[in-house]
Amino acid sequence: MSLIVQKYGGTSIGSVERIQNVAERIAKKSRKGNEVVVVVSAMSGETDRLIKLARQMTSDPDQREMDMLISTGERVTIALLAMALQALGCKAQSFTGRQVGILTDSMHTRARIEEIKADRLRQALSEGVIPVVAGFQGINQKSDVTTLGRGGSDTTAVALAAALKADLCEIYTDVDGVYTTDPNIVSAARRIPKISYEGMLEMASLGAKVLQTRSVEFAMKYRVPVHVRSSFNEGPGTLVTQEDADMEQEIVSGITYNKDQAKVTLVGVPDRPGVASMIFGAISKEEMNVDMIIQNVGQAGLTDLSFTLPKEDARRAKDILLKLDKELGIKNIALNEKIAKVSLVGVGMRSHSGVAAKMFACLSTEGINIMMISTSEIKISCVIESKYTELAVRTLHDNFGLGENQAPKSESATG
Ligand code: ADP
Ligand code: ASP
Ligand code: MG
Repeated sequence: MSLIVQKYGGTSIGSVERIQNVAERIAKKSRKGNEVVVVVSAMSGETDRLIKLARQMTSDPDQREMDMLISTGERVTIALLAMALQALGCKAQSFTGRQVGILTDSMHTRARIEEIKADRLRQALSEGVIPVVAGFQGINQKSDVTTLGRGGSDTTAVALAAALKADLCEIYTDVDGVYTTDPNIVSAARRIPKISYEGMLEMASLGAKVLQTRSVEFAMKYRVPVHVRSSFNEGPGTLVTQEDADMEQEIVSGITYNKDQAKVTLVGVPDRPGVASMIFGAISKEEMNVDMIIQNVGQAGLTDLSFTLPKEDARRAKDILLKLDKELGIKNIALNEKIAKVSLVGVGMRSHSGVAAKMFACLSTEGINIMMISTSEIKISCVIESKYTELAVRTLHDNFGLGENQAPKSESATG
């Protein structure tokens, strides 16, 4: 008998019929003698709808109230799925994050799980009940509801799998695995049968939304095997696990994009010691995560400085800088929300040169201007105008030979 945590994303449970289909899949798994814990998201579009409602009340909603609001989508789906399972003759019960003891810090809308007291879940399992747990939510020390950041149900699932020492965490979604790039943008994208935690972490943190970054961190830390699969077919999916010999070691293994960031440019910043520290100190005090930073060579005691950060923080960052401006006398502060970061990911880049030059050449052939560049041993990222994202991803995917008919056929399908 195996203990399996299954997570179903928004599209997979986006209608009554789909919830019923999911219930049948769970019932089948359970009837085969497995212990199953289910985690669900809100119905597709629901969390966005709730966020829009909040914005109609105020342009800057209180984060505690925001969590109270956006955690409700998952309460709907847990109850409906539990009912659907009961209608199939299964013993099932729904649980909120609080009820299963998911304890987080107090960073509303982006809280981190600190502890899971899974006693109630263990009790339910011992009684033969299939627990259906609300993803994306927990509570802080004051018992206020918190949420784990967009896509956070993945993290709930992997964290529960770790806490329960489950044999496997299955992430059911609307694509049948992790691909070389978003298959909804590039139809020639190729499914990756097996990927290392490290490779997946890089893909996720650079924008591959198929798994939330935190969920991969949990999986890696607690060695939870994660199987990404489609909830609409029985395909073999992608196994995310420890690196092994039959994993691909491509120079470039994937292309990702991230449209959730904005660029702030400060023109005419005094070019003297302590200024960068003042600027980024003020930003980090507000718990905002800056990603890329570039500074131009100074002239006449002044320089220009640009950085990127999540769009949701950008306006607040600009306000903070406007306040600092009195001390610093910056000439102009501009905000550009129409940017995207496109990245090449691959462990093989460590030992190969020329990858960056080829990337820049591909983008320039398409007439795409590069605004910022950042590199690490295993990735290269370029910031471009967001309207060119799809074009950039397609051309890079094609030129780096990642397509279905281009890649080496070393499939070691799992499943
Ligand atoms: P869910 O609601 O099931 O959590 P998400 O929308 O969060 O689903 O994640 C699945 C989506 O991730 C896919 O529909 C796809 O557009 C996107 N995606 C981005 N990059 C990749 C990738 N490399 N492989 C697979 N899917 C990807
Ligand atoms: N419903 C939440 C969201 O849309 C969490 C999730 O889907 O994982 O971000
Ligand atoms: Mg998701």
